[in-house]
Amino acid sequence: TISMAVIDKAGRIAVGTSTNGLTFKIPGRVGDGPIAGSSSYADDEVGACGATGNGDIMMRFLPCYQVVESMRRGMDPKHAAADAISRIARKYPDFFGAVFALNKDGVHAGACHGMIFLYSVKTPSMKDVEIFTVLP
Ligand code: ASP
Repeated sequence: TISMAVIDKAGRIAVGTSTNGLTFKIPGRVGDGPIAGSSSYADDEVGACGATGNGDIMMRFLPCYQVVESMRRGMDPKHAAADAISRIARKYPDFFGAVFALNKDGVHAGACHGMIFLYSVKTPSMKDVEIFTVLP
């Protein structure tokens, strides 16, 4: 799964997710990818979030909507990401999944459970992409 968030020069924020779906998924399964608020969510006034992991579980929590709403209410990206993941892990301790959170100022963070999460960042001032590793 690839989730991506972009902030343009005018401050507009876009987000999206592309996925092959879960390994061994049943034919016809609709995962979390097309569900706004689950695999990704953005609001120009706040920021964005993208997710990967067990969509059958994650879609019940709309973690990306949760992240953006938490940031709207003042949480920084790191705490908003950790909070969204912990809400899921509390009910499903064995789930695996991750989110990244990006606020409108470009501050970003990730959180994960049951997996290691890698995400990359590129800003106009950076020469190359930087990869961030998030541990559970
Ligand atoms: N979230 C995807 C799904 O459940 C899988 C993934 O992120 O790898 O379809």
